[in-house]
Amino acid sequence: MIKKTKNIALVAHDSKKPKLIEWCRENKEILSKHSLFTTGTTGTLIEKELGLSVTKYISGPLGGDQQIGAKISEGAIDLLIFFWDPLESMPHDPDIKALLRLATVWNIPLACNQTSADFLISSPLMAEDYQRDLEHLERYKKDRKILVSKS
Ligand code: PGA
Repeated sequence: MIKKTKNIALVAHDSKKPKLIEWCRENKEILSKHSLFTTGTTGTLIEKELGLSVTKYISGPLGGDQQIGAKISEGAIDLLIFFWDPLESMPHDPDIKALLRLATVWNIPLACNQTSADFLISSPLMAEDYQRDLEHLERYKKDRKILVSKS
């Protein structure tokens, strides 16, 4: 269940950090009603520029994306805003892909650009509980059990 008060992860690559800060400033009032989780540098900037309190993981290239991905798989992150840079190659590209994959696997709302983030944050569902569909995971677990018991 994605609760009314959400755990929101915010991540931005260096070239996108000013955009994310601007976006957070515009949406500060809404964001302040939820709990925020970030990679290291993104979080430091959000705290400094906006005075919002965030839970910071380590910097993305050092494993921060993976930490957020792990939290998604624990059901501890409800929504991901990830301003990633599609025009630069990154040393931690596999981690970025893994994070995007886990957000999709766990069927959480995911915005990878400002327009999507605008649509997402203005959704009435931001202020409501929401039952996400995880049926594909139940099916996967069930199929695995069958496979395991046969071998
Ligand atoms: P950062 O990490 O917030 O520590 O810069 C973001 C990323 O590159 O994934």
